[in-house]
Amino acid sequence: MGIEAAVGVDIGGTKINLAIVDCTGKILLQKIVSTQGELGAESVMSKLVEGITELLASNQGRSVPARIIGIGIGSAGQIDNRTGTVVHALDAIDEWLYTPIKQIVESKFAYPVFVDNDVNVIAVAEKCFGAGKSLHHFVCLALGTGVGGAIIQDGRLAHGVYGGAGELGHISIDFNGPRCVCGNYGCLELYASGRGIAALANAKLTENGESSLQSVDSRKVIESWKRGETWACDVMQVVIHALSAGISSIIHTFNPEAVFIGGGVSEAGDEFFQALSCEVQRRTHSAMWEVVRIMPTTFGTHSGVIGAAAQSWAR
Ligand SMILES: [Zn+2]
Repeated sequence: MGIEAAVGVDIGGTKINLAIVDCTGKILLQKIVSTQGELGAESVMSKLVEGITELLASNQGRSVPARIIGIGIGSAGQIDNRTGTVVHALDAIDEWLYTPIKQIVESKFAYPVFVDNDVNVIAVAEKCFGAGKSLHHFVCLALGTGVGGAIIQDGRLAHGVYGGAGELGHISIDFNGPRCVCGNYGCLELYASGRGIAALANAKLTENGESSLQSVDSRKVIESWKRGETWACDVMQVVIHALSAGISSIIHTFNPEAVFIGGGVSEAGDEFFQALSCEVQRRTHSAMWEVVRIMPTTFGTHSGVIGAAAQSWAR
C-alpha cells in the first residue's frame, strides 16, 4: 500500500493548479490548466473534474499508487465553507457566484470533498506542513492582485459565520482614503495589492512628468526599488507604511506568534521583509512585538495546492 495522499486544487483567475500531495506535504503529481474564466463556471468546473480524473489515473499508473483519502479545493472569492458554495465571486470567472463546487465534485468522485477560500488554505498549509506547524496563533496575508487574509487562532482556522472571516485586505488604514469596492475607504488592498502598487506607481510617474506610454506594474516597481530608483523608493515607502499600519492593527487584534506573507509582492525578498519589520515594530506595542515574527509563507507559489490538499488532514 502506498503513502496516504490527497488531491489539492487551487482555482485562480488565470490558472487552475492541481496536485496529489502526500501526508508529509510533498507534491507527488502536478498539473496546471488555464482557467479561461470567460467561458463560464460550467466550463471551469468540467476542467476541474477532468484534471482530477487525469491526476487520479496518473496516480494509478505509479509503481506504488498513493492511497487517496480526499479532495481539497481552494478558490478565490468568498466560499461558504459549510456548503462549499461560492458566495462572493471574483470577476475573472463568469457566473462563478453560487457555483456549488463541493456538490459537483462530490457527485463525480467517491472521496470526501473540502472547499474553502484560497487564502484560508494557505494558512492550512502552514499549520499542517509549514513553519506554522508548531504555532497556535498566526495570520497569513496574501499580496496578489488583491490582498487576502486568513487567521489561525487556538490552532484552528477562524471562519466566522459562513467562511468570510479574515478579509484583512479590507482593514481601513485611512478613513479619508479612496473608496474601495467593499464600501469602506482607504482599505489596505488599495495600497498593498499588485493592482494598488501599480496605481500608486503610475500616479507617481505622472506627477513627476515621467510617465511613459507603457504603464508600470508591481513587478517593475519592485525591480526599480531594488536598484534604488527614487520614484520606486517613494512608492514602496507608501506600500511599506500602508502594510505596516495594517499588520500592526492585525497584531493588536490577534496577538499572533507569526504573520506569514505570500503572493507576488512578497517575492521582493529579505530587503522588503526587513524594511517592513522595522516599520511594524515602530507601530506595535512592545509586548506584542516581542512574541511575533513576520516572514514569507513556507511553500511560496505551491502554498495553494498543498493547503487545498491539507484540508483532508486538518479536520
Ligand atoms: Zn475594502
